[in-house]
Amino acid sequence: MQAGEKVICLDNYFTGQKSNISKWIDHSNFELINHDIINPIELKVDKIWHLACPASPNQYQKNPINTAKVNFMGTYNMLEIARNTKAPLLLASSSEVYGDPQVHPQREDYHGHVNTTGIRSCYDEGKRISESLCFDYKRVHNCKVHVARIFNTYGPRMLPNDGRVISNFIVQALSNKPITIYGDGLQTRSFCYVDDLIEGLMRLMNKDHSGPINLGNPMEITIRDVADLIREEINPSIPIVYKSLPEDDPLKRQPDINLALTALDWKPEVNLSRGLALTINYFRSIISTI
Ligand code: UDP
Repeated sequence: MQAGEKVICLDNYFTGQKSNISKWIDHSNFELINHDIINPIELKVDKIWHLACPASPNQYQKNPINTAKVNFMGTYNMLEIARNTKAPLLLASSSEVYGDPQVHPQREDYHGHVNTTGIRSCYDEGKRISESLCFDYKRVHNCKVHVARIFNTYGPRMLPNDGRVISNFIVQALSNKPITIYGDGLQTRSFCYVDDLIEGLMRLMNKDHSGPINLGNPMEITIRDVADLIREEINPSIPIVYKSLPEDDPLKRQPDINLALTALDWKPEVNLSRGLALTINYFRSIISTI
């Protein structure tokens, strides 16, 4: 929208909310359609940003069959539009294609370690089949595809009940509730601030590179240390409670971003303490409505 492009936004509001796009709703370049991409739709477009699918384990496990359908049927429907219109398609894939990785950090040529029958597989295998479909449409129909493997991302406008770690910890600390660490908290993740991620996605769409390309912040941190950073920022006396580790929760995760560096000239700019401060400010501003 800021680049003056016309935007058609499809959402079924499973995890999205209208308030996030309220400032564009009456704009003449903006059209909002309440649509679930599991169902086909005909559109005349010249770029497709396929970002659909809940990304929080909490949310995508609520209706796992639907999650698999969004990833297969939704991606199929979007690729059919790409085939008919010749529009390039960017797929928001995920670091979850690496599963519980046995190679660390994860490079794009690592094929992953995914449990095909576990509670995460609707999403992990979903993203894997959506990548397969993209590359088959490229080979069979000459479609232009761009596949981003997105690592843990956070920032303002996450839902308070999203369920992922950063929003959970911030909302808990701001509401004076104990911080819930799953397992021993020594598992690691690498957190990318949303603005950095969006910059990476835009560069990928505008380059002649199909990917897959990892997009994430390589700064790896334990979940315990995330809890401490957030407590220090909000209230160091907030207690921590330890809960059981969800099934198949990956032990560690860190992107190798050398490909993004060379192919897109991209690296994240916002460090975790700055990104957390911005995210905490956001949740502070909406906390009265939570
Ligand atoms: N986690 C936690 N407490 C929470 C939410 C998540 O300790 O309230 C842990 C979770 O078990 C995982 C990590 O934080 O090890 C990241 O979880 P998240 O759901 O944010 O994303 P994931 O990387 O697992 O998809």
